[in-house]
Amino acid sequence: MKFNTKTIHGGQEHDPAYGAVMPPIYQTSTYAQSTPGGHKGYEYSRTHNPTRNALEKAFASIENGTFGLAFGSGMAAIDAVIKLLSPGDEVISTNDLYGGTYRLFTKVFENYGIKFHFTSMSSPEKILPLINNNTKLIWVETPTNPMMNIIDIKAMAELTKGNNILLAVDNTFATPYLQQPLELGAHIVMHSATKYLAGHSDVVMGALVVNDKLLAERLYFLQNASGAVCGPMDSFLTLRGIKTLHVRMQRHCENARAVAEFLENHPKIDKVYWPGLEDHPNHEIARSQMKDYGGMLSFITKGNDYDEAVRIVERLKIFTLAESLGGVESLAGHPASMTHASIPKEEREKSGVIDALIRLSVGIEDSEDLIADLKQAMQD
Ligand SMILES: *Cc1c(COP(=O)(O)O)cnc(C)c1O
Repeated sequence: MKFNTKTIHGGQEHDPAYGAVMPPIYQTSTYAQSTPGGHKGYEYSRTHNPTRNALEKAFASIENGTFGLAFGSGMAAIDAVIKLLSPGDEVISTNDLYGGTYRLFTKVFENYGIKFHFTSMSSPEKILPLINNNTKLIWVETPTNPMMNIIDIKAMAELTKGNNILLAVDNTFATPYLQQPLELGAHIVMHSATKYLAGHSDVVMGALVVNDKLLAERLYFLQNASGAVCGPMDSFLTLRGIKTLHVRMQRHCENARAVAEFLENHPKIDKVYWPGLEDHPNHEIARSQMKDYGGMLSFITKGNDYDEAVRIVERLKIFTLAESLGGVESLAGHPASMTHASIPKEEREKSGVIDALIRLSVGIEDSEDLIADLKQAMQD
């Protein structure tokens, strides 16, 4: 089955009871047993739920993996991965990680004796000196937020070979429509399915997909033991969202290109960060591992004026000023005052998050309307 067909049919069966084409929302916590232990594969909904299972099979299918797991949020999915580790273990990750992931690593798991190294992942040479016998996990996010850096997944996979190190990739920004980390050598792929997979800004959801059976069993154990599962209604909404992932992503990419090219030529704009632009520093890696370049982009206005950036995002009418990304509607954000406000100015500027940086999640409206909206917002 090819990708577009998988988004609709991958891992799906018609419901055995009445042939329902969409899996019913099995809004139940428990299941009748005819005799103790005599059940139809379902005992309690933290452990298994038919709607969630249908979604988990869809996750596995679209990522070309064998085992899928659904969680109550992207953070819950990451939490399960780190719980594979033990005190003394070390993790290497990128220095422009999603803020929530950075917080979970440093404010929660460091307290449990796990050590995290944050480094630029622009080349494997930067990572080699950090690898030792305690290194158990490399955590990659690509493209990164909000600077749209691209990390070479295959090169990272090479580093794990023969070293008993797991490679996990947060594939939230790219989605499997654009890149499939398991195919590139990753052991675990993770999603905030809240974003593009569900795609309609109406659900919070996390996903993991793996190929290795033993690894899957350990993760299913943690999913049930810690219990950060998603409900049947949210499973249903995410499954419905996935069915249009390929058409949405195609339009997200087309619109982002149109917006990036408009911004690049605008006299008020200093720089546009979108991996599809040929002057993007990682354009070649992006071209080799992604099918297209995604719907997320950032830009900076000339003069690096905080107030000017705030004025622009306030004036936007079609772009909604909001956190999050990946829905059908276009969103704009000002990282310095929103998502990255808790990071000290000097720290965030080291990774490029300056006052004038604006981040866009380009939606699937008509690109002419999006461009006109940006144009009016930037007028004097
Ligand atoms: C949103 C996001 C997360 C966290 O996911 P939630 O569903 O909000 O818990 C993790 N990684 C990336 C890249 C994200 O954008």
